[in-house]
Amino acid sequence: MTDATPNLREGRCPRCGKRYRFVSLARHKPFPFCSSRCRNEDLGRWMRGDYVISSPLPRLDDEVALEAAETEDDPDEG
Ligand SMILES: [Zn+2]
Repeated sequence: MTDATPNLREGRCPRCGKRYRFVSLARHKPFPFCSSRCRNEDLGRWMRGDYVISSPLPRLDDEVALEAAETEDDPDEG
């Protein structure tokens, strides 16, 4: 009987905060989440844009930034 759990790792689901154990990353597909359900929910949030990675710039600012980059490259006065 192998009652002992030799190589179990412990993780904590960033989505629901539940502690879970897994044998290896390869065997635990939804890592770092506890389950594929949590993983899917989190992915869904990303898709919907609930999480904001970088501040959403308005298009105008983008163009200004581009112009600035271009002029910066040009030798203005010499
Ligand atoms: Zn979870």
